[in-house]
Amino acid sequence: MACSKNHSKTDNIVKNLPIGQEGVGRHKCASCAYEIGYQHGLQKAENINLGNILEGLEESQKGERRHRSPHAAYSLGYFNGVKDSYK
Ligand SMILES: [Zn+2]
Repeated sequence: MACSKNHSKTDNIVKNLPIGQEGVGRHKCASCAYEIGYQHGLQKAENINLGNILEGLEESQKGERRHRSPHAAYSLGYFNGVKDSYK
């Protein structure tokens, strides 16, 4: 299934991430990975199974987020979520 969510805000962040197509994250939607990471960061989630998370993502070949590393996207989202949780 291809991701059809509206990621117009997230795509602006994700487009600067490195290209990465390793492992189960291959072709997965980097913007979805970012948004999940962000939510986990806000909650400071500690028991994370990244393999399961990436596995569960929908695929995306779309525009700016094509081939962006979902590992990088998730971790940047997590980082920003933690930062925003202190605001
Ligand atoms: Zn998506």
